Amino acid sequence: MDDLPKPWFMDKTPKELGIGTWGHIWTISYETPVIEALRLFLVQRISALPIVDSENNVVDIYSKFDVIYLAAGRAYNDLDVSVKQALQFREEWFEGVHHCSINDDLSTVVEAIVKAEVHRIIVTDENGHLAGIVSLSDILKFLVLDSPTILKNRFY
Ligand code: AMP
Repeated sequence: MDDLPKPWFMDKTPKELGIGTWGHIWTISYETPVIEALRLFLVQRISALPIVDSENNVVDIYSKFDVIYLAAGRAYNDLDVSVKQALQFREEWFEGVHHCSINDDLSTVVEAIVKAEVHRIIVTDENGHLAGIVSLSDILKFLVLDSPTILKNRFY
């Protein structure tokens, strides 16, 4: 990436550019019934839910892709099981939660997403608390629909 020409907006943070979702992020806990997570996927039109502990720290993430493990555990006809139970078949493939800082620029965030081969990245604030989510669909929307030429006027 260092060899490629760098557009001006790559030095701005996603939040400055209006990329991602900030403020209210839908979360669940390990104890949340899977049916509730699936309902949130459908109703809120999101593809992942950060899993938080009792102190609101992000400890894991439940994504639409993880629904596949319900089939592995033959639990698809018992959607009252907890997210923790639903994830018990995932352990060996799980790479962990990928996150970046609210002060990271777009270039750093894109590089982190590409390196980790994930669909979205969790953004934490200075205190390590969940601040936002930047998804591939947010970046795509910015690059394709929000014209960087028009946005340029915001900063000069
Ligand atoms: P995605 O499903 O990852 O393509 O994301 C669709 C949109 O929902 C994007 O604008 C994301 O920033 C946003 N989003 C993703 N996950 C969440 C969440 N857990 N809570 C709130 N917004 C989210």
